[in-house]
Amino acid sequence: MFGQRIDRAREAMADRGVDVLLLSVGADLPYFCGYEAMPLERLTVLVVPRDGDVHLVVPYLEAPRVVERPEVFNLITWRDSEDPITRVVDLVGGAATAAVGDQMWAGFLVDLGTACPALSFTRASEVTAPLRMVKDADEVAALRRAGAAVDRILADVQTGQVPLVGRTEADVAAQIGRRILDEGHHRINFVIVASGPNAASPHHEPGGRVIRDGEGVLFDIGGTMVGPGDVGYCSDITRCIHVGPPPDGFAELYGVLHASQAAGVAAATVGTPCEDVDVAARRVIDDAGLGEYFVHRTGHGIGVEAHEHPNIVAGNELPLAVGHAFSVEPGIYVPGVWGARLEDIVVAAADGPVAMNQIDRSLAVVDG
Ligand code: ZN
Ligand code: ZN
Ligand code: ZN
Repeated sequence: MFGQRIDRAREAMADRGVDVLLLSVGADLPYFCGYEAMPLERLTVLVVPRDGDVHLVVPYLEAPRVVERPEVFNLITWRDSEDPITRVVDLVGGAATAAVGDQMWAGFLVDLGTACPALSFTRASEVTAPLRMVKDADEVAALRRAGAAVDRILADVQTGQVPLVGRTEADVAAQIGRRILDEGHHRINFVIVASGPNAASPHHEPGGRVIRDGEGVLFDIGGTMVGPGDVGYCSDITRCIHVGPPPDGFAELYGVLHASQAAGVAAATVGTPCEDVDVAARRVIDDAGLGEYFVHRTGHGIGVEAHEHPNIVAGNELPLAVGHAFSVEPGIYVPGVWGARLEDIVVAAADGPVAMNQIDRSLAVVDG
């Protein structure tokens, strides 16, 4: 699996005139070699030349974490008393163009540029994103498992099995975080619990606000679950509930949102440009006169990373292909008043879009 992925990366490197691929912190590294770098100050880098051997350069003390795959890479360790940049410079050799992992620490990029003044740099995502975007059947199965896990959690919230009233957002978020692990994820990526007017902030950080009767609560949760090759794949779902019957204005707003999300998913057929999916979802909100309150793109790709390509956004003309996995998550946010978002992960397939999340999409009303 990893060997095939590296072969495909090399084809993309040849097409783009990239001589060497340097992958460090971030999701490219586990995708191509099964190892995830610790996001610390010591340098970890996978050096993939267009021809020749692949090397994984790792701090000596982190080497016990590496699952060795001699058919994929040779392991090189460096001690704290050594300069890892000189090791990487040796491996880069006479390369003219290096594609560098988008999340590699800027400090290492500066050091590499200083050590190799003739080397020019591009983003590794130009090589890696087109490969990572297209999920195979095993990857889709991993996304489906992760999606089913977060579905179980928010289904319990929708049916009133998680007490809300009188608790702080942070307290509810901590409970949901534990559930994310209990349901089989190995990592919690985010838990947004946003009550009342806090739901108007799309990336609200759950805090000390106490949830009260008579208000809406937005839940946006996700984690990472082990998939093919022991590499993690992400879940991401948003649902809104209302404690007690919603006021007319909120019910109306939610109805528009629900129709928008359905229109976005329905538009997500193979061959449709990503930006047209955004238009399909946005038009419903615009037509209701609420367009100014939909302040973000309709969705993002998902896989090894919670946010990856392709983005479902104006300007992205990429046509959807079989295996593209992405969120469809329109939102309507009235600052200081209330907000709502509805999100499923969707995979483009030959017979039409397939949702990885299946639970009720209507506004669930729970008892106060
Ligand atoms: Zn988000
Ligand atoms: Zn999302
Ligand atoms: Zn989300």
